[in-house]
Amino acid sequence: MNAPLRRARIDLDAYRSNLDLVRGWMAPVEVMAIMKADAYGHGLEPIALAAVDAGVRWIGVLTVPAALRLRSIGIGEDVHLFTWQHDPGLDFRDAIDSAIDLGVSNVTELQRVVDAVDQRPARVHLGVDSGLHRDGATADVWPDLVSLAVQAQRAGRIEVVAAYTHLAESSDDDDSAAVAVFDRAVEAAEDLGLDLPMEHVAASLAGLERKEFRKDMVRMGANLFGIPGADGVSAADLGLEPVMTLTASVAKTKRVPVDTGVSYDYTYRTSAETTLALVPVGYADGVPRLAQGRIEVTIAGKRYPIAGRVAMDQFLVDVGDDEVRVGDPVVLFGTGEHGEMTVLEWGEALGTIGEEVTCRIGARVPREVVGHEVGGRVGDYLREQP
Ligand SMILES: *Cc1c(COP(=O)(O)O)cnc(C)c1O
Repeated sequence: MNAPLRRARIDLDAYRSNLDLVRGWMAPVEVMAIMKADAYGHGLEPIALAAVDAGVRWIGVLTVPAALRLRSIGIGEDVHLFTWQHDPGLDFRDAIDSAIDLGVSNVTELQRVVDAVDQRPARVHLGVDSGLHRDGATADVWPDLVSLAVQAQRAGRIEVVAAYTHLAESSDDDDSAAVAVFDRAVEAAEDLGLDLPMEHVAASLAGLERKEFRKDMVRMGANLFGIPGADGVSAADLGLEPVMTLTASVAKTKRVPVDTGVSYDYTYRTSAETTLALVPVGYADGVPRLAQGRIEVTIAGKRYPIAGRVAMDQFLVDVGDDEVRVGDPVVLFGTGEHGEMTVLEWGEALGTIGEEVTCRIGARVPREVVGHEVGGRVGDYLREQP
């Protein structure tokens, strides 16, 4: 069998191991496993099924359609599915009927939720803007939002589940100030007669580093994919394992003379007669065009820099006089155990964060799901796919 031209291996055992570790650290605080953006590019359904099999009871997926997708593959109402970015035209009826948890942070949106209620109350988390200025209600609109929530809850139309906010992670002081804003909003809500059963504030970074911010639940995304966000801390330092490994196979090789210009614009020239190996992964697959000089890939455990511009569908590496053959496996990033770069290192090398790298791995790259979980519900799900 030929090795696939390109593929992203998704290791559910690694995800499971990260989950167990993180839940152990956070205990007794609840962990919501965040899986927005197709589980940070890893593929939503297998990751969600693996998390549920591991006992996760809170999953954050950003949008209602993603949450409904999870309900449709059998993730039942014993698992809370939190969503917090809503299309302004969305009809909330299906979400409410499917017991999807709705993050809501303005009066207009809450009124639309209340109006959509039919059989059962909507599950609502009220969002506070503590300084990020993304979603979340600012202090001047918060009392109106809370008053509407109190009224709707008394009428049996909504169930207020929690208050939540999201931090800027700019500095410890900034985050402390933000949590103080959040705490004042919670007090104000209580003064207006609203009971808030839960509070959730922290994501991966604050969840690890600011114990006092864990409140009732921590929303963990990046850590679970083996991409820690703390400065200077690798996944291995924490015992986390990168979940995605991006591989390809050498598609062509050719000998070229000294001073040969390579790829668009000839931004690379060979310094001796050498072998160029073509790796069939390009910027359409999520390898940035400017990766030359920043990214090295491994072939048979040895590192080679990208030679010249990354094209849409491919790039070249200069392998010198090494014996590299068509079909040889190329590792772009992985766990780091065999000399390859990790996705965290890719993020650093490219001036971004690892999450952006995995999210951008294109749809053209097949996700190959591996791990013991593949035998269980995940396996059943994957076998049903075309
Ligand atoms: C993305 C996100 C998270 C998870 O963040 P990580 O840093 O990946 O753990 C948590 N909460 C909200 C609201 C988010 O948007």
